[in-house]
Amino acid sequence: MNVFSHPEFDNHEHLSFFCDPETGLKAIVAVHNTSRGPALGGCRMFPYASDEEALRDVLRLSRGMTYKSALANLDLGGGKSVIIGDPRKHKTEALLEAMGKHLDGLGGQYIAAEDSGTSVSDLKIMGRHTRHVAGIVERTGIDGRPCNGDPSPATAYGTFIGLQAAVKHQLRTDSLKGLKVAIQGIGNVGFRLAKHLADAGAQLWVYDIHEDNMKRAVDELGAKPAAAEDILTLPVDVIAPCAMGAVLNDSTIPEIKASVIAGAANNLLERPDHDQALKDRGILYAPDFAINAGGIIDVFYERTSGSAEKSRAHVETIADTLAEIFRRSDDSGRPTGVIANELAEERFKKHVAHVSTLPERLARAV
Ligand code: NAD
Repeated sequence: MNVFSHPEFDNHEHLSFFCDPETGLKAIVAVHNTSRGPALGGCRMFPYASDEEALRDVLRLSRGMTYKSALANLDLGGGKSVIIGDPRKHKTEALLEAMGKHLDGLGGQYIAAEDSGTSVSDLKIMGRHTRHVAGIVERTGIDGRPCNGDPSPATAYGTFIGLQAAVKHQLRTDSLKGLKVAIQGIGNVGFRLAKHLADAGAQLWVYDIHEDNMKRAVDELGAKPAAAEDILTLPVDVIAPCAMGAVLNDSTIPEIKASVIAGAANNLLERPDHDQALKDRGILYAPDFAINAGGIIDVFYERTSGSAEKSRAHVETIADTLAEIFRRSDDSGRPTGVIANELAEERFKKHVAHVSTLPERLARAV
């Protein structure tokens, strides 16, 4: 298994491989870049088919976190961890505790949050042995409701704000009244986004593989149900993919009728050049890692004991970041995803964070 010559290796600052035979824990932590601050990112547990697959994932995802946090102007770097194993079969309290001990040994350069295969309660178990876990404090969320650390309300709000910015740029209107929006995936983020849009007077079409999720949006928000194969190609103004990645690809892009794409799902483009394909068709794409940063912003405020109001105001700056990306894209004729990457690089390559003090500021008192 190559590391330094791995195709996904991008001058990552630190990689650690951890094995605890007693609990069966096998984990990799990747710290991509800490020029803005300690690396914060999810801890994923997945039954990877090989160590190579796990390494690829952690290298790729940690890099993505550097870009997301820098674009959101957070004093955070990018990192990620993966535990190799099936969360339904191999996740035990002892394994999670061993992970917590390992994370503690990294001294705060990496802070773990929940991700697929781990939950807030798992992170709390890791937190018995380390302060370097995030997204587990019960407090008032940005919507003014009690929040157990779940970032979805902030992600949904940020996506809503970003969608508004994209509509303003592309359709030259501040109002969402009567706007036609199709949402793919009515889960934690998708339903909340749908609620914001319904409150603003938008007309909604929804699809989810789970009938009950779709029915809830139909019953509670007046959304219209759509078919799986139609949801991304309906004659609407905006499509908001909030389920899974790679849905913008060679088969969907030629069929899209909406002129704006603004959704929360990660890695929406199947290939980087699909960004150009969207621009060629005159479709405005709000880059996923810019529009879905609300969750990481909110986790940052949790860690620094910032108020819900401050977190909300910061989430609202997603509109400014997107406006800047759209403007630069128009001026240069280059696609929005490329511009978003460049803007993020400007922000983390030039930034000098107070790295020595940040781990303490971000460390949660256990
Ligand atoms: P979720 O699991 O709560 O919701 C996803 C929904 O998509 C589920 O209701 C699921 O049934 C549905 N779904 C799955 N496959 C589908 C398909 N083929 N077609 C239609 N619907 C399908 O997850 P979430 O927290 O709402 O996150 C949604 C997306 O946003 C994910 O891609 C996630 O990585 C991304 N994201 C989430 C957050 C967050 O704070 N939760 C932050 C950043 C990015």
